[in-house]
Amino acid sequence: MSGLRIDAEKCVGCGACVSACPSGALKITDGLAAADAGACVLCGICVDTCPTGAIAVEKEGAQDLDLSAWRDVWVFAQREGDGFHPVTFELLTQGRQLADQLGQRLCAVTVGEGPEECAPLLDAGCDLVYLCPPPEEGRRLEPFCAGLVAGLAEERRPGAVLFGATPLGRSLAPRVAARLGTGLTADCTQLDVDRETGLLRQTRPAFGGNLMATIVCPHHRPQMATVRPGVFPALAGGRRPGARVEAVEPPVLPPPATWELTAARAAREGAGLPGAEVIVSVGRGIGVRKNVKLVERLAQLLGAEVGCSRPLVEAGWLSYDHQIGQTGVSVSPKLLITFGISGAIQHLAGIAGAERIVAVNSDPDAPIFAQAHEAVVGDCVEILEEMIRALEGRAD
Ligand SMILES: Cc1cc2nc3c(=O)[nH]c(=O)nc-3n(C[C@H](O)[C@H](O)[C@H](O)COP(=O)(O)OP(=O)(O)OC[C@H]3O[C@@H](n4cnc5c(N)ncnc54)[C@H](O)[C@@H]3O)c2cc1C
Repeated sequence: MSGLRIDAEKCVGCGACVSACPSGALKITDGLAAADAGACVLCGICVDTCPTGAIAVEKEGAQDLDLSAWRDVWVFAQREGDGFHPVTFELLTQGRQLADQLGQRLCAVTVGEGPEECAPLLDAGCDLVYLCPPPEEGRRLEPFCAGLVAGLAEERRPGAVLFGATPLGRSLAPRVAARLGTGLTADCTQLDVDRETGLLRQTRPAFGGNLMATIVCPHHRPQMATVRPGVFPALAGGRRPGARVEAVEPPVLPPPATWELTAARAAREGAGLPGAEVIVSVGRGIGVRKNVKLVERLAQLLGAEVGCSRPLVEAGWLSYDHQIGQTGVSVSPKLLITFGISGAIQHLAGIAGAERIVAVNSDPDAPIFAQAHEAVVGDCVEILEEMIRALEGRAD
């Protein structure tokens, strides 16, 4: 079993590990460090902190792999309507950079009727697209795609596989990771390659967003990560010489336990946030519920979407679809205007992709100003009313 091993011969009971442990999983008992296996998350901070080298993390089932045989960066290209989900192109942009750093290929795995449907993937910089015919009608997509990606990965051995953290990607990635016996880092906000080891460095918020953790997967392959829509930009990669589509066979799956009878997209309020070019966003500084109407009116005049911080969702003033941040959506508009948002780290995690941020806050020391391109110190209700008056006057 995985766990902490504490060498009683080396431990001097100094307590350095107890102070360093972020999970409160260590204590000194009878002069020696002891770990609570239920609380320990095997982060390894105590290993680095112990001055006598008495602590080691033992991981179960480290595969005996020839890591050099696992090459290429794969992106699961999720279909949406006749095209692909926008996160696909964000992942391909990031995947292209990783593949170039590693000197490897960028490949996409997708489902479709014919190679002509893969043109957008080739145009986005893929070297190779694995194209599989869709599942028979009614068959559920998740097990089908999980079987496809896992089966192909066992055969072709990619070094890394990236999924969008969409409902489908979130369901798919853990299934693939479990079948391949490898790790998975969810909701990464940064991906890069360690220059010395060539390992994929997967960075994501941890401990309630209070620190950023960089995770590597040194002993298992492939290295797997999900990334939420809107975190990375989607740039035109351009078609590569020799880029091609390879047809692959559908996975052989056991008879389905469940069949999907209908699939319908629910009409959702605020669903346009991830792709919005202009967002007007509101926080607790708006004061009272009726003032949210001012933000909605301004958004209407600007042709913008309405976003908000978490307290407004918790108060029931706006629905969860509007929440921006670590536990909401990540956005990447050309212009974001915030009213009465303080700029907590969990909120900032969702706006890193915004091109221009104009922040309105009555507190000149509000943390949002460190992230904003324009800082407006003032009462957000007064400024909202002023802006609405000006824009309504222009419309007359
Ligand atoms: C695990 C976890 C996940 C979280 N996920 C998210 C998330 O996804 N998204 C999110 O937003 N939060 C999230 N939070 C909550 C986050 O920590 C903050 O509490 C939240 O973002 C604060 O929202 P706020 O800025 O609206 O409110 P506050 O922090 O209360 O800030 C209100 C701001 O309004 C200003 N103000 C007051 N009156 C006026 C006025 N009249 N005019 C102008 N300005 C005024 C104040 O100066 C202040 O800066 C999460 C927290 C945790 C622990």
